[in-house]
Amino acid sequence: MTLSKITLKKGKDQSVRRYHPWIFSGAIATGPGTLKEGDVVEVFASDGTYLATGHWSPGSIAVRIFSFSRCEPDREFFRKKLTDAMQYRINTGLAGSSDTDVWRLVHGEGDGLPGLVIDIYGSMAVMQAHSAGFWHLRGMLAELLPGITGNIVTSVYDKSEGTLPYMAKLGPVNGLISGSISQNNALVTENGFKFRVDWEKGQKTGFFIDQRDNRNLVRQYSSGRNVLNMFGYTGGFSVYAMSNAARVHTVDSSETATALADENVILNFGNDGRHKSFTADAFTFLAGMKSEYDLIVLDPPAFAKHQTALSQALQGYRRLNALALKKIKPGGLLFTYSCSQVVSREDFRRSVFVAAANTGRNVRILHQTGQPPDHPVNIYHPESEYLKGLVLYVE
Ligand code: SAH
Repeated sequence: MTLSKITLKKGKDQSVRRYHPWIFSGAIATGPGTLKEGDVVEVFASDGTYLATGHWSPGSIAVRIFSFSRCEPDREFFRKKLTDAMQYRINTGLAGSSDTDVWRLVHGEGDGLPGLVIDIYGSMAVMQAHSAGFWHLRGMLAELLPGITGNIVTSVYDKSEGTLPYMAKLGPVNGLISGSISQNNALVTENGFKFRVDWEKGQKTGFFIDQRDNRNLVRQYSSGRNVLNMFGYTGGFSVYAMSNAARVHTVDSSETATALADENVILNFGNDGRHKSFTADAFTFLAGMKSEYDLIVLDPPAFAKHQTALSQALQGYRRLNALALKKIKPGGLLFTYSCSQVVSREDFRRSVFVAAANTGRNVRILHQTGQPPDHPVNIYHPESEYLKGLVLYVE
């Protein structure tokens, strides 16, 4: 296979030499002229030294690197990459666990495969390509998955319609690539709890798998408490809290979400009067509620998708957390999260700190949490640490 080449400007090779997996368009001296979006390229320093191999795209991130050593990126190469990802999930106890069959097999940069996400729901793998490069490989990846996973995966669904760069004009259509699962949803198990996941209509690939460990932490503290699960979506936090809480209220602005939360609570606990859901805006609900909850979960959608929206996002986190901190009962616990990639851990902590200071209440930090092991953070790519959590004790 002959691969296209690009050469970096002098002095622009530092971040690649430190294994950062992105090359920005401004760093490139020569090469991109005839490239098509999704082409594999080899990257060279200005003195001609080979640096890395990755997928080309015409945006601000010009190359997403999947190898820092010279390679032939063929079927065997990607089989090895997927096998590494699978082995890591086996070694960390997720793949093949008896009480959890929903987990992430490939987490982009975290697994050295920038632009690719693969989530496992029982025997269905839902694939999302964020780059044309991986979208072109979808058929091959789908063929490899059953073998890689020891036949845990039998069907593969492509959900790249909303994630592929629009400018690529590839016209992706979501749908089954291989296998035989005809319905678009499944009943999955997470830490022994049942959830209905709809990968066709649901957000992301259907479920917020990344909150698994944080949901478990809520269960540890919810005993006997009045719980408010704000931004509830599928009711993940609510289901865990229902194991031992006095009362659980789920709030989401989407009616589809509150119906799904109700369904998932019923799946696990039947028609249990301790749970109630409300379709409402978070800010309105928090401002209007009484001081009746002693455990509140705030898990909003990403307030900032781009750097330009950062200061507005931080203001959003301050407002939201101030409302909850003001109303939470003395001795209450606030579980608060940010999943915005551009909001750093420090930024988020500072926003919550300002919110706490505005209420004048005494606040202790019990836990600072993040994403679970199947969403690994690439140590050379700080941007992959996107989920930040704080657990606060409010006097
Ligand atoms: N906690 C969830 C994931 C939350 S996703 C889990 O564990 O699975 C964010 C949710 O916030 C979405 O379901 C979305 O419908 C909801 N949402 C977005 N804006 C909102 C608002 N202003 N008020 C209430 N809910 C909102």
